[in-house]
Amino acid sequence: MLSLKFKLFLAGFALSALPLLVYQYIAFQKANSSFTITYAKELQHKTSLNTLLINQAIAHRISDARIGAQIASEWLMRGDHDALLHYFDTLLEARADLGSVSLITPDGCVTYSTRKHPDSIKIVLDPFSEAIRAYAATPQDEPLVLQTLRDPMSPTLFIVQTLQGSNSLFAMEMNFLNIELLLANFEEDILGDKHVYLSDAHNRLLFSHDNNATSGSIVIENEHFETAQTIFEETRLLTDRYGDTVIATTDTISHFGANEALGWRISAFVPASLIEANIRKGFAPLLYSGLLIVLLSTLALLLFARSITRPLSSMLETAKRLKQGDYGARINTQASSAELQTLTDTLNEMAATIEERTRQLETQNEIIKANQTMLESQNRHLEKVSITDKLTGLNNRTRLDAVMQAQQHLCAQRQGQFSLILFDIDHFKRINDTHGHPCGDKVLQHMAKIITEHTRNSDVAGRWGGEEFMIILPATTLDQATSIAEKLRLMIEQHQIVEGETITASFGVSASHCDDPLFSIVERADKALYEAKNSGRNRTVSTF
Ligand code: GH3
Ligand code: MG
Ligand code: MG
Repeated sequence: MLSLKFKLFLAGFALSALPLLVYQYIAFQKANSSFTITYAKELQHKTSLNTLLINQAIAHRISDARIGAQIASEWLMRGDHDALLHYFDTLLEARADLGSVSLITPDGCVTYSTRKHPDSIKIVLDPFSEAIRAYAATPQDEPLVLQTLRDPMSPTLFIVQTLQGSNSLFAMEMNFLNIELLLANFEEDILGDKHVYLSDAHNRLLFSHDNNATSGSIVIENEHFETAQTIFEETRLLTDRYGDTVIATTDTISHFGANEALGWRISAFVPASLIEANIRKGFAPLLYSGLLIVLLSTLALLLFARSITRPLSSMLETAKRLKQGDYGARINTQASSAELQTLTDTLNEMAATIEERTRQLETQNEIIKANQTMLESQNRHLEKVSITDKLTGLNNRTRLDAVMQAQQHLCAQRQGQFSLILFDIDHFKRINDTHGHPCGDKVLQHMAKIITEHTRNSDVAGRWGGEEFMIILPATTLDQATSIAEKLRLMIEQHQIVEGETITASFGVSASHCDDPLFSIVERADKALYEAKNSGRNRTVSTF
């Protein structure tokens, strides 16, 4: 079974940490989708703006070419070659993205040029000589724009315009410097790893964010381009104010901007994983602070759970000790709340009451025990007194009767015979009369001593009454009993009990008859004693 502390901790954790984590998860998802939309719009905006600016840059140069052709034809007509040359120099200096300004023949031969790279123009124009010838064959208002990828690191545009009144053509070499600068804007972004491509009508790369990408390579082979291209053809998700399209999928956010005149396209892609990683980065402090809160609240919960369970554990421990009989056990832990303190105090008071009651019971038990011992001793004493003759300390008649009854019972069951000696002090009255009653008592006590000392342990001797004594001899024949009686008689006779007096006793001996009634043996012994008295005293008479 789960402990109370663990249950409290689980409940607290479920109530505090889980909502926080769920809240963080929802917030993350919301931020993710809103950031994706925001970023998609930014990408859309930038791409559109750049497309517009690139289109403008090219349009400016085309316009430059028209004007240049007009001015050149005027200087040529006037024959002022210096002015023409000066104009070309000025043009070249004013336009940083111009590589050269030239006059060429309709088949593409250079006749007049201001250039940064000598001889380069002729070489560049070579592959276009057919196109230039065809263009020059008929008078044209619109310039001819030629695209070259001769140098993979710096692609160029050639803009060719017919001169009026001359068979020469005005040619301007435009590099991608401005375009590169524009596209470089993409780099200044919150996301670093973007993919920006400027491709021509044949999907050949003109410019890329990636320095390793080669101009002229086919952009469509790029995986992001391919994904975006496919989606672009199938779906249109957002349309910006320039009428361009931005595509946001779970994998990529992409946007395409086009130059209608040249068939160029700016393609910009951001992998969605990058956006997610960026949000994650932004979310990290929130997550860590959340985890810190969970940690702190968990710690607080543990302390809270402990503050409740500690007094309870102490109570349980104390209850166990009380159960085991340790009534001095008390709850010592400080309770964390008023209710628990009241419970602790009440339990301690209960324990104190139990201890006090137990102590009282123990005292009473001791008194009862002492009384019991005393009663037992008194009982033993009373029992002894009840069967003892007070004067001689010998068994009294009650005891002698009981022993005789037991012996007669054994005899009736054929389990043993017994004999009986009965004797009476001769002329005892005279001793009393002569020496006083106390002296008579002393004689009786002395007689008891003689009997006790000269009978067997198995024999039971007692005072039958007055100066008459009885000895019950279990497992003893009449002859054995007679000889014991005779021995005692002589012993008494020879003892000097009272000075100047010879004290004697007469003995009657009898043996048990198993089928006779109880105490018939006493009658027979009594008869024998009577006979001993009558035949002169101080003798033993036995009768079966
Ligand atoms: P006998 O030889 O015929 O037995 O004569 P006896 O004098 O002994 O017998 P009797 O029956 O005439 O007298 C017994 C006396 O024993 C009478 C009585 O006062 C005395 N006696 C009985 N019990 C006690 C006692 O406890 N103490 C004393 N000192 N004398 C006792
Ligand atoms: Mg007598
Ligand atoms: Mg007598």
